[in-house]
Amino acid sequence: MKKSMELYLHIPFCVKKCDYCDFLSGPAPVSRQNEYCEALLHELTQVQISPEYQVSSIFIGGGTPTVIDSEWIVCFLERIRNRFSVEEGAEITMEANPGTLTGRKLEDYKKAGINRLSIGLQSADDRELALLGRIHTYEEFLEMYKMARSAGFDNINVDLMMAVPGQDLNSLMKTLSLTTALRPEHLSLYSLIVEPGTPFSERRLDLPEEEEERRMYEEAVSYLEDWGYRQYEISNFARPGRECRHNLGYWQRVPYRGFGLGASSLMEEERFSNTSDMEEYLRDCQNPELLLRDRETLSVKAQMEEFMFLGLRMRRGVEKRAFEEKFGVSMDEVYGETIGRYCGMGLLQEQKGRVSLTFQGISVSNRILSDFLF
Ligand code: SF4
Repeated sequence: MKKSMELYLHIPFCVKKCDYCDFLSGPAPVSRQNEYCEALLHELTQVQISPEYQVSSIFIGGGTPTVIDSEWIVCFLERIRNRFSVEEGAEITMEANPGTLTGRKLEDYKKAGINRLSIGLQSADDRELALLGRIHTYEEFLEMYKMARSAGFDNINVDLMMAVPGQDLNSLMKTLSLTTALRPEHLSLYSLIVEPGTPFSERRLDLPEEEEERRMYEEAVSYLEDWGYRQYEISNFARPGRECRHNLGYWQRVPYRGFGLGASSLMEEERFSNTSDMEEYLRDCQNPELLLRDRETLSVKAQMEEFMFLGLRMRRGVEKRAFEEKFGVSMDEVYGETIGRYCGMGLLQEQKGRVSLTFQGISVSNRILSDFLF
């Protein structure tokens, strides 16, 4: 049987940079976008992946992949199918932002085999959207969402943001109520993080206090659960059976290969990234070995750490048997003391051979997860 793996394609272009964003992304003229897409096709043509792997999911992210000419998306997926073995029914997700979609693009995405869209809404409050530096209003999102549904997309994620400047519990709940009324299959809810080097880091922002943020999060989780969205990871919620396979793979350390500027990979227990320098990327795309940076073969200890701190993000947690099968040593032998301590505090729980965060534990997950690092 073939081994499962995932692919990621990075499209680093956006209409305009949002004020909080530190991703590798930004506006660029169409000529530069085309040059980049050409280079990405070269990379897809040159990279060798062992035939023992089969691709179970593809994620086209960014940036805003819906900015570029949709013909490119068709070309990328054709090239992937020609070169690699892709599982029938593989999940193929593309990120999309309001204000960048057209009927023709949606048709192309369908034709290319995209079967899941992840739409960045962030907030249903136009004032909050403007503050974040987003290019769209809630109405524009709504229009795009309806277009995507009419085009036959039946697996949609909506990205939302919490702890936005000026946001209170009421406005968050309003965003949640407007979003859940649309019945997307999946919702992501991340807290705003003010990253150094972004315009937000230089402003005085009216951010909610920690206690208020915790209350907002707890109310949001409970509201979403009432609407039939099961929390399957700290920040991700899905209708039954609609969990994102790509994300689940990432938290379970399924090997993945990233293509494009700055894209990272985990293959054969080696982590590496492509260069983040556009000129270098365009120059060396014909020889992908030259693109690689930060190559690190993970020690067994590093693999154990990742197994725990990525796996514990999922509500179902980590399986003790899987740990022992992979590392030849029991989880208790390595982490028994830490697990016991947090179970005693009611922050971790052990059920049917799995260790997972309790609801209380999720609120302080950063602290708990960091305790699994050696
Ligand atoms: S649309 Fe997304 S990737 Fe682009 S600048 Fe805004 S947050 Fe960053």
